[in-house]
Amino acid sequence: MPEGHTTHALAERLDRAFSGTVVSVSSPQGRFADGAALLDALVLVGASAWGKHLFVQFEGERWLNVHLGLIGKFSVMRHFVAPGPGAGSDTPPQTPGMPNGRVPVEGQVRLRLLNHTWVGDLRGPTVCAVVTPEKVDEIQARLGPDPLRPDADPDLALRRIMRSTKPIAELLMDQTVLAGVGNVYRCEVLFRHRVDPFRPGREIRPATWRAIWDDLTRLMPLGVAFGQILTMDDQVADALAEVADGSAAAHTEAVTGARLGDRFERRFYLYQRTGEPCRTCGSTVRTQLIAGRNLFWCGRCQRRR
Ligand SMILES: [Zn+2]
Repeated sequence: MPEGHTTHALAERLDRAFSGTVVSVSSPQGRFADGAALLDALVLVGASAWGKHLFVQFEGERWLNVHLGLIGKFSVMRHFVAPGPGAGSDTPPQTPGMPNGRVPVEGQVRLRLLNHTWVGDLRGPTVCAVVTPEKVDEIQARLGPDPLRPDADPDLALRRIMRSTKPIAELLMDQTVLAGVGNVYRCEVLFRHRVDPFRPGREIRPATWRAIWDDLTRLMPLGVAFGQILTMDDQVADALAEVADGSAAAHTEAVTGARLGDRFERRFYLYQRTGEPCRTCGSTVRTQLIAGRNLFWCGRCQRRR
């Protein structure tokens, strides 16, 4: 299930692969044929993310809006490897409008972006639409602050939390309160701060919210860098060190959207550990459906406001 770090990593990959180039846009599956025709052979200006929404700008003020939903995948891979030194020019020829036939299509590809070096294939999204700049503003206005965006205002989320009687675990998943956090980050961050997931929003202390927000702004960039959610202190410390010394870059490069990150062992404090002992206190990890997804929590550790 893609959370905000997936969308941001995708925007960065699309930027590296396609920005400033003429892109051939098609819908091999056919379901997005009309939309693809509106974008085909235009220069891709840039890509960005807000929460789980991806926005790709093309010349002429045309925007592509994508939401991966629960099962969507957007892979971005090289299909052309430039010849090495001594093998002639290392700049591949620019061939706008290259026919799709050159790169084989696998499965149900709703949208394909293609330039001389890269191919981006989108499969199974809940949203894939060509939209106006006004529509982009409208979508973004509905979304809460995103911890991965430098312009984000955590107080906006706090005001919405303080007005609500809904449990904090439900509010963290509400994209109009906070954009980008999904089920794994919500469970893990509430545990990291020992917050009772059933505490109503209006009873959450502002200092607690600030600590959660600051933690998300530290954890989520690691998700972007490594293509996997990291929340356990030992892994977070290792990941931060690898970002600082530059060795994280190779892992960022290896993540394609089809292939997820595997630098770190997949483990969490609570997520999907129902019935197992809490790693901190030994009490049994519990689960309950909340906001449509299984919440995992420790009833002994998580009592704070
Ligand atoms: Zn515990």
